[in-house]
Amino acid sequence: MTVAYVGLGSNLAQPETQLRTALIELDALPQSRCLAHSSLYRSPPMLTPGQPNNQPDYLNAVAALDTGLSPMELLAALQNLENQHHRQRAERWGPRTLDLDLLLFGDETIDLPELTVPHPGLYERNFVLYPLAELLAEQAEHLLIPGRGTLASLLAACPRGELEKLNSIP
Ligand code: AMP
Repeated sequence: MTVAYVGLGSNLAQPETQLRTALIELDALPQSRCLAHSSLYRSPPMLTPGQPNNQPDYLNAVAALDTGLSPMELLAALQNLENQHHRQRAERWGPRTLDLDLLLFGDETIDLPELTVPHPGLYERNFVLYPLAELLAEQAEHLLIPGRGTLASLLAACPRGELEKLNSIP
């Protein structure tokens, strides 16, 4: 069994419901159980060239998953969940009903065409680092992100910005 960290994000179709449902679905994946999850965090969408700039705010969270799946099996399971959520409501590309990212898989480094671990966005995204640090609490000082130093050092270099922690969900 390996502890994997999964980043969740949604800014469409009742994001809080999307995330709550996804947390239950993660716990129900084969050979897997959700050990813990962070609070929900709200942030304005990243400004990406070419994307509409009037998107709704994002909600994000991070979950710790104890899993017997391989990294590729877990990626496939996450994509399957994303597809299930997308099917609930057809939307133009841009806003996301549910985005699931495999952030960390134990202490593994994976560099495949379809899977990069640690997730490349982990190092600098406040909506990933702050929920991850909440989940890991005091371990953040010691937890080494493969190739990037401690989680605490990444956090210190990442301004909190407009990220807003919402009340914790049960
Ligand atoms: P996105 O549109 O941001 O959800 O990216 C999805 C694509 O990123 C898929 O084609 C995945 O194969 C790829 N990918 C690479 N590394 C990861 C990762 N650590 N977690 C999730 N998707 C990944």
